[in-house]
Amino acid sequence: MLPLLRHCCAFGSHHPSTWRSIFQTPGREQKQIRSWSAQCSANNEGSSVAEKDNPQKKLALPDNSLLDARILYCTSPALGHNKEAHPESNKRVPAIVDALEKLELSPKVLEIQNFNPACLDDVARVHSRSYITGLEKAMSKASEEGLIFIEGTGPTYATETTFQESLLSAGAGITLIDSVVAASKLGPNPPLGFALVRPPGHHAVPQGPMGFCVFGNIAVAARYAQHQHGLKRVMIIDFDVHHGNGTSDAFYDDPDIFFLSTHQFGSYPGTGKIDEVGQGDGEGTTLNLPLPGGAGDYAMRCAFDEVIAPSAQRFKPDIILVSAGYDAHALDPLAGLQFTTGTFYMLASSIKQLAKELCGGRCVFFLEGGYNLQSLSSSVADTFRAFLDEPSLAAQLDDPAMLFEEPTRKIKEAIEKAKGIHSL
Ligand SMILES: [Zn+2]
Repeated sequence: MLPLLRHCCAFGSHHPSTWRSIFQTPGREQKQIRSWSAQCSANNEGSSVAEKDNPQKKLALPDNSLLDARILYCTSPALGHNKEAHPESNKRVPAIVDALEKLELSPKVLEIQNFNPACLDDVARVHSRSYITGLEKAMSKASEEGLIFIEGTGPTYATETTFQESLLSAGAGITLIDSVVAASKLGPNPPLGFALVRPPGHHAVPQGPMGFCVFGNIAVAARYAQHQHGLKRVMIIDFDVHHGNGTSDAFYDDPDIFFLSTHQFGSYPGTGKIDEVGQGDGEGTTLNLPLPGGAGDYAMRCAFDEVIAPSAQRFKPDIILVSAGYDAHALDPLAGLQFTTGTFYMLASSIKQLAKELCGGRCVFFLEGGYNLQSLSSSVADTFRAFLDEPSLAAQLDDPAMLFEEPTRKIKEAIEKAKGIHSL
């Protein structure tokens, strides 16, 4: 067993990020593989120049350990952001970390620790200032009352740590963008990034929180990649079982961000219909593929081959970001699709290959949903195995008896309709 080093971020601090390998075992002297300060881009507000033109952006050149890394990840478990019996609980990220510990993963999997939270200016590229400052002010009420609801009648809650922990989660994505982009300048096969963070982000709309989500972690990262690194064209693939309405709203009229969402037809929040394709200059750069209840591995293999891959090949992104929700798993309690561990392995492997073909391997995954701790953690672990080109453990984890036949006719109809609308 190759233990991971535990998360040791201190939000609000400005410690330099620290690189650590998961193969460092307790008792062995911990080797700091690399450290550099992830600079706050607030100093550069208003600038849209690429990093090479920005004297305030100082990235130390990563060493050979970074060059050899195959996966970089950050954890932000938001332990203080929790509500008793709520499915989006603070047990989620620790469960994933425990599953990773049990794998004999390659020493080329590195955790970045002590990263900075996102700056308010980074978040404000996606969310309104009134929302951000309002949430910050609400923390005193949350402190007094223990827990407050911040979405009107919606399910999204906050505790006294929610604001800072949400900034840290957004900061994890930004740090991984910086790291993957830096590595991609040094070689043709940069490591993949995975932000193991919560609260999730893809339902959070520009004006506020929604659906367990506080800040749109992936949307903030997409804007940061454009602003800070000059990566103009960003593709976001969202395979959470729910429509990523917040991400969609943020970029609905933006021709440079292609948002592609697969989700269960009719599920929360009810948006993401197949004929929602973007508007204005962004018409055609939003693609929704709602799948019928019961869709599973067959559906997603078809969706990848016939919709996701050709969309990406035509769009030609500079980076691919992935809203990786694991609540489409057959065992997840919140929805009715039938993905398996093997489906998530296939998606990870295929998206990795797509990024390699199209955008120099630059790709960062963001944890979104996934509420059965067992299927969540084993599916994320198999995602890591896919990134490493190690065999899937799906055959040991997936019980075919739990599945029923997929509605293939409805699946084919949905895919054909999306292909027709988008001329794929
Ligand atoms: Zn979801």
